[in-house]
Amino acid sequence: MYPKSIEDIKAHLELKGIKPSLQRVKIYQYLSENKSHPTVDEIYLDIGNDLVTLSKTTVYNTLHLFVEKGIAIPIHVEGNEVRYDVDIQNHAHFKCQECGRVYDVELDVASMNFKELDGFQIDELQMFMRGICSECMKKTSN
Ligand SMILES: [Zn+2]
Ligand SMILES: [Zn+2]
Repeated sequence: MYPKSIEDIKAHLELKGIKPSLQRVKIYQYLSENKSHPTVDEIYLDIGNDLVTLSKTTVYNTLHLFVEKGIAIPIHVEGNEVRYDVDIQNHAHFKCQECGRVYDVELDVASMNFKELDGFQIDELQMFMRGICSECMKKTSN
């Protein structure tokens, strides 16, 4: 679905016209390995230790570049909190109010029937659900 090894990530970035600097490759790798939909702050905190030269501005600019080139999507989950995802297929998100985890939910857009959009082409669909995940439900019932 999306590249995971360093070599594949480099090729993927180059294909999109992005110069594959170490920082960019690391940020993409982080996003593809941690499907946690991290915020700029989370990414910076997690990989800032490995890359001492990394600044928060670089993380921010890199994510913007990824979005502009179509290899990542920004997700607006709550308020003005922006999270990032390298899964660019249409999918929904579910945020657990207990553990805070954001789950991916597969969507079959082609089979969805939006009466009012008959004859329209849907390029992007963002759907967000909030609740309590099954893990946390198990914990509270014990
Ligand atoms: Zn949970
Ligand atoms: Zn997602």
